[in-house]
Amino acid sequence: MAFKLTFYGGAESVTGSNFLVQGTKGKVLVDCGMEQGRDFCQECMYEPFAYDVKEVDALIITHAHLDHIGRAPKLVREGFRGKVYMTPPTRDLMELILRDSVHILAEEAKKIKVSPLYDEKDLNLLLDLVELVPYNKEWEAAPGISAILRNTGHILGSGSVRLTDEDGTTLALTGDIGNSPTPLLPDAVAVPDADAMVIESVYGDRLHDTKDVRVDRLRDAINKAVAKDGVVLIPAFSMERTQLMLYELSNLMEAKEIPEIPVYLDSPLAIAVTEVYEKWAKEYFKNGVQTELAKEGSLFRFPFLSMTRDREESESIRKTKGSKIIIAGAGMSHGGRIGKHEALYLPDPHTTLLVVGYQAPRSPGRRLVDGAKSVRLDGRDVTVNATVEMFGGWSAHADRDGLLEYAKKALPRTKTFFVALGEPASARFLAQRIHGFLGVKAIVPTQDETWEITKEGVKKV
Ligand SMILES: [Zn+2]
Repeated sequence: MAFKLTFYGGAESVTGSNFLVQGTKGKVLVDCGMEQGRDFCQECMYEPFAYDVKEVDALIITHAHLDHIGRAPKLVREGFRGKVYMTPPTRDLMELILRDSVHILAEEAKKIKVSPLYDEKDLNLLLDLVELVPYNKEWEAAPGISAILRNTGHILGSGSVRLTDEDGTTLALTGDIGNSPTPLLPDAVAVPDADAMVIESVYGDRLHDTKDVRVDRLRDAINKAVAKDGVVLIPAFSMERTQLMLYELSNLMEAKEIPEIPVYLDSPLAIAVTEVYEKWAKEYFKNGVQTELAKEGSLFRFPFLSMTRDREESESIRKTKGSKIIIAGAGMSHGGRIGKHEALYLPDPHTTLLVVGYQAPRSPGRRLVDGAKSVRLDGRDVTVNATVEMFGGWSAHADRDGLLEYAKKALPRTKTFFVALGEPASARFLAQRIHGFLGVKAIVPTQDETWEITKEGVKKV
């Protein structure tokens, strides 16, 4: 016997991570994510899972991004009652992210006249099933299958999973791999002990800005915006990117490299996530920031920062005259408070929009980066006269060289790579490079495909 791996999600797609691994005795699901972007079929999300969820022994979550956890409560709704394993920070972040989406899902379901994907009750039941596991400590995840999580430096609590079957076959699934080194989290840990590896490929075909340029570009963009008395808008993902941005802004202001202007963190979710980051900072942040942390208490708070939780507070931001920095979700400008700020400020040529993360095809964020002169935001067509700058170096994902480096560290044990969690062109490009540079097999799997994995090699079923 060997492992059987089925790609129920995350094949030729960045989102929807969902991999079923069947061992000699047990069955483990790695991630149960939401599909995002406008490319997928909205209604398909509501269809039952393609496998019998009651037969799954355990769910292992690599990290708390919605495209890795978004359908986990639905799994419970359909009758899954196995254990759900993750690191302690992932548990805290997951609860915030999933509670935040309950009301959005209820509204969406009403619109298309179906029952919601899950409700509060399903979510609470899911949380009851959670068992916390630390990094680097192997445990029995399902009958005959042991597992170990290792830091990937992507977001707080993120980990790769390596599974071992009782016959000795090993399979690793990377989840998302961080853009190490980063200021806050320790570097991604290599996985040198897997026969086969499912590797992410979000930036499989692209290079990021180098890291020292990243802060220089931020400083220059802010100084330019302040010189013309303009507003700086930063659509931010609530996890990691927001905290990194607060950290760098705080450093730049302290060093007087940018003027002391008001900064607004205008997102109740991002504020709550920042508190989770503060809670786990001592235990999970890298050694390099511990002295600073001990001295300052928090890496994310500084005198000119306002955290605006309430709607009224958010609406009063516009009354502040002159230059200011507004950080708000959603990260791809697809709704949320940033949509309102963009609708107000993008027609103004003094405004600067800083885009700091992955933008899915056809999202408003991608259209802005591509230079659209008019974009639909907050329910209306908005003329864009603002300066739009894309900052690649802020990504929480490794770029094409970082991914190849990570793959290289899996050798010589790993004989096959399955390149997943990326757009098709990106996945294919990384697969070619892994094959070309490392001389091993690299496969780009398609949706619902099953592969048999043994110590000797892999075979399509
Ligand atoms: Zn992620």
